[in-house]
Amino acid sequence: MEDSLLKKVAIVTGGTRGIGRSIVIALANEEVDIAFTYVKNKSLADSLVEEVSKIGRRAVPIQMDVRDYEGSKTLVEKVKEEFGRLDILVNNAGITRDRSLMMMSREDWTEVIDTDLTGVFNTTRACIITFLKQKSGNIVNISSIGGIHPIPGQVNYSAAKAGVIGFTKSLAGEVAPYNIRVNAVAPGFIETDMTGTLSGKYKERLLEVIPSGRFGMPDEVARVVIFLVSDKSQYITGQVIQIDGGLGM
Ligand code: NDP
Repeated sequence: MEDSLLKKVAIVTGGTRGIGRSIVIALANEEVDIAFTYVKNKSLADSLVEEVSKIGRRAVPIQMDVRDYEGSKTLVEKVKEEFGRLDILVNNAGITRDRSLMMMSREDWTEVIDTDLTGVFNTTRACIITFLKQKSGNIVNISSIGGIHPIPGQVNYSAAKAGVIGFTKSLAGEVAPYNIRVNAVAPGFIETDMTGTLSGKYKERLLEVIPSGRFGMPDEVARVVIFLVSDKSQYITGQVIQIDGGLGM
């Protein structure tokens, strides 16, 4: 049986903006302390630390690229030094470099695969030893509807996000006997900087095919992540929950 989330400690990759930021705040509201990673924007990281401290929890920002395998090990060491424990990992950091395959450079391919897929390997590999030793742990990977129902112009992203689903299911089976759960969520179109670059015309076309008739909000993803890391879902592992307003039906 898992305890409540009180006093647990989480790592959230890519916490400064969008879905990751909402997840950090939602975890803090559940009385979890958090270490979150980011790459570029220190002032956004500082403002998140302040926001979390107003909730009465502690957030530690760690500037680290999820593509950095050794850096992931250092991240886990730092978190255990800072908080003395580690219970939850949310692999959220991700990017897109959308282009038709004809126009896609090798860099467009490797940047997305290295961040969205290998990044999940790096941080999970770094955390898993702790989880196995303590015989408890909870991992949620942020995949995408693009990994289940791919659309044209995203071969790199679709391959990475489908890879995350395979990774989630394989690992879930491997570590279930150690009381470690591994699940994924597959958001549809969520209002963040990532979708902010889509053209107005394209957004209009999307709204016609999303049964709910709107994009999702980051906190609608965060709420499902909270469910998955809580004891309310303790018999759920190896699953992918779509959060897409019905788009992927
Ligand atoms: P945003 O672009 O709004 O935010 C991305 C976050 O990831 C930022 O905090 C960014 O940090 C961080 N990040 C990017 N690259 C790295 C890296 N190499 N190492 C560490 N951190 C990094 O994205 P969203 O919130 O929209 O997306 C979050 C996740 O949800 C992604 O995995 C995305 O693929 C997935 N998703 C999003 C959907 C959407 O519609 N928005 C739909 C389906 C899935 P910094 O600010 O420093 O750049």
